[in-house]
Amino acid sequence: MSNVTNNSGGDQPEGRQDFIRERVKADLAAKKHEKIITRFPPEPNGYLHIGHAKSICLNFGIAREFGGICNLRMDDTNPTKEETEYVDSIQKDVDWIIAGWADQVKAPGVLYASDYFGKFYDYAVELIKSGKAYVCDLSAEEFMAQRGTPTSAGQNSPHRERSVEENLDLFARMRAGEYLDGAKTLRAKIDMASPNIHLRDPALYRIRHAPHHRTGTQWPIYPTYDFAHCLEDSIEGITHSLCTLEFEVHRPLYDWILDSLDVPQPQPRQTEFARLSLNYTVMSKRKLLALVKEGKVNGWDDPRMPTLSGFRRRGVPASAIRTFCETIGVTKFNSLTDVALLEHAVRDVLNKTSPRKFGVLNPIKVVLTNYPEGQSEEVEAINNHEDPEAGMRPMPFGRELFIDAEDFMEVPVPKYFRLKPGGEVRLKYACIIKCEEVVKDDAGKIIELRCTYDEGSKRGGPTSGRKVKGTIHWVSAAGAVDAEVRLYDRLFTVEEPDAGDDGSDYHQFLNPDSLQVVQAKLESSLAEPDPDERYQFERLGYFCVDSDSRPGKLVLNRTITMKDTWAKVAKR
Ligand code: ATP
Ligand code: MG
Repeated sequence: MSNVTNNSGGDQPEGRQDFIRERVKADLAAKKHEKIITRFPPEPNGYLHIGHAKSICLNFGIAREFGGICNLRMDDTNPTKEETEYVDSIQKDVDWIIAGWADQVKAPGVLYASDYFGKFYDYAVELIKSGKAYVCDLSAEEFMAQRGTPTSAGQNSPHRERSVEENLDLFARMRAGEYLDGAKTLRAKIDMASPNIHLRDPALYRIRHAPHHRTGTQWPIYPTYDFAHCLEDSIEGITHSLCTLEFEVHRPLYDWILDSLDVPQPQPRQTEFARLSLNYTVMSKRKLLALVKEGKVNGWDDPRMPTLSGFRRRGVPASAIRTFCETIGVTKFNSLTDVALLEHAVRDVLNKTSPRKFGVLNPIKVVLTNYPEGQSEEVEAINNHEDPEAGMRPMPFGRELFIDAEDFMEVPVPKYFRLKPGGEVRLKYACIIKCEEVVKDDAGKIIELRCTYDEGSKRGGPTSGRKVKGTIHWVSAAGAVDAEVRLYDRLFTVEEPDAGDDGSDYHQFLNPDSLQVVQAKLESSLAEPDPDERYQFERLGYFCVDSDSRPGKLVLNRTITMKDTWAKVAKR
């Protein structure tokens, strides 16, 4: 296993410091820029995941801290994998993460790299005119075969010395759609012996007769990532172009292209930072798309997915994701981050804000045989122990109740302090009960516990101070709300499901028990739960209403358990 980062280091919202912010500060001090402009440039070929949240928090966060703006730009230069559905989901997810400060920092509207196709073309012509680009007829395979290796120089393309006129003519014909896919490429004329393989005459344009989700069939040629990205940044006046470490080796090409063209000054500057990797998950859009397509999960927003829409549906607050991103910070070294850090941030927010409720996930019926039939009463329950202002709520109490199957053992293990035959337990906020009889059906399944209650043990009663070792939660049968509750576990059983070096496939590590569905009974105050609220069910965790809910059919998600139960299991 690689180094797992689990220090909860600087949780300071203001005064964040890292090498990127130092650079921004220095550039402002040197008056290099009047205003900082960053960008978040997703390719709309999938839904955003938690790794993207790191980039969103960094780019929008820097804009916010330094009085600048951040552009949301769809990097939509690849026609075949991109869809409008993804564009819509990306906007929604970004707005969710930066809600509250979007107005201050987000450039109005969404920008599209495809809006610059004309400009890219003109810049390519400019490169050809200055002798810095040529049309090459080698196929991708032929070119690869003569590109050389990191330790040996490549060979020049036989088309490298074409005249400017010929190149201009061929490039115009590529644009006019005269050639088949792959027949020709526009290449930068740099250095086939460069130690940096990305500088060995990289492709700038490829022929692709494929409709684009915005420009339709207007363009039969598309710029490569390397050609387009630096120009997108330049066109938008980006000051600091922040990307993940794999692009470090592309930076010389980024600079070469801008240095070779007549672009506004100062040019944007690319700086790389470590991508986020989380344990127990995969985080590439390609792999996440595969899980969706194969039906391993129920869509991109399945609450088990590491996508932002999945987290939102699961009930994770955006503020917890922001706190998590601040906590992990920005570094130059790739490492594996412990998902427990994210879970810690989630519990921290929810513990402070969630109203407390009683819910029973695996109900067993309890009948209090000495409680008068037809009678009922109310007890008072605390709404949030962390928030004295939240007050109390009434909960019905009566002859028939539900308790959780986990709180009863017919044949108890030693030191079992919850309910057992002949044993006593306190029902929180109510009274002490004693199990007198276990009623089973013909198959031997427990259908009812017949109990007696100690009336005097109610609050204010003569035996209210009487101590029993166990206290459990419960729900009154009268007024109980039925709900389908979805309980989630990690999607993968191992820390690095896509380590992949030994050829193993992440599919084999899918957790078969990542989703468990139960029919629960909830306290009556949840008859019409607020779809935007997260509730703490005492002892069970935090829950929210799922979008599958319909009138008469309530569906809840467990956002997270009260405590991490996994750390122990994983160490076995
Ligand atoms: P994936 O590999 O998951 O498909 P990507 O890098 O291809 O992701 P893009 O849509 O190109 O996804 O990414 C948009 C921005 O988000 C880029 O600037 C990229 O550097 C950043 N980003 C993507 N994944 C991560 C990550 N795991 N950690 C930090 N930033 C990321
Ligand atoms: Mg990408």
